[in-house]
Amino acid sequence: MKVFDTHVHFPWDEERDAADVVEELVETAQAAGVVHMCLLGSRWGDFNKRVTVAMDKYPEMFFGLYGIDLDAEGPEAVHEAAARGYRGLKIILPLKRYDDPTYFPIYDAAEEHGFTCLFHTGVIGGGADYRIQDPFDPALIERVRPWEGRSRRAGVSSAHMEPIMLDTIAFNFPELRIIGAHLGIGYYDLAAHVARWRRNVFFDISGGEMVRRHVIERRLVPAEISHFKLLYGSDNNARFADEIRDWQTVFDMLRMSEEQRERIFYGNAARLFGIIPIEVPSAEPAGAATGDGD
Ligand SMILES: [Zn+2]
Repeated sequence: MKVFDTHVHFPWDEERDAADVVEELVETAQAAGVVHMCLLGSRWGDFNKRVTVAMDKYPEMFFGLYGIDLDAEGPEAVHEAAARGYRGLKIILPLKRYDDPTYFPIYDAAEEHGFTCLFHTGVIGGGADYRIQDPFDPALIERVRPWEGRSRRAGVSSAHMEPIMLDTIAFNFPELRIIGAHLGIGYYDLAAHVARWRRNVFFDISGGEMVRRHVIERRLVPAEISHFKLLYGSDNNARFADEIRDWQTVFDMLRMSEEQRERIFYGNAARLFGIIPIEVPSAEPAGAATGDGD
């Protein structure tokens, strides 16, 4: 089965030569049946540049998403990204809500270029995982303090990244293709409702064991959100095959058909990124006669 993985970070090791990393990435991905992937740049480090190395070498495989800083960059960064061959934006950790009107010029430019915007949704991880780690462990405290210090009084909050904000963006930019990451983890209800009613809003299912467990235990698929609005994403760049196998197991348990799986693993993303063209009749000019006398 063909797979389009919509959530792959460029491997985080900045010490290594980007071209070598790309070769490994392609090899591992292809072995797992991944034929296309969104490769995410980042507003930090030189990952945006690294992504261009991948796009230039394997333009069929990689759909680059430029990691933009909503607070420091503007629409010109989007135009530059489009000229460089990027197909969308990766957006995370803004200082205001995703739907703050000061960000609209960026979304406007993204819509103009036919971009797909992948927004992180839900509480952002980092530092340590206190579900399995002891917050009173002195060694851990020493290790996470520098990380915590970086956000001191900086105005950062996961509350800026709730999936309901994708509803505002979808209403205001109806042709902008929008992906919320991790099925809105922690806000599944809102994520599902937004996806249900806004044509261009999709969610990726990345998030590993926890999202898989929630999908089953909370009966999210297909009762709350269906194969029409889900995209396969691994959020991983080493364990492609394992992630695909684990999701297939979940889909087995949900008794999902081959057609439904195909949409999640490949078809929806292929349509979003134009690999499978959608024949849309051109819009009627405003005020055109409809014959019903209104
Ligand atoms: Zn991610």
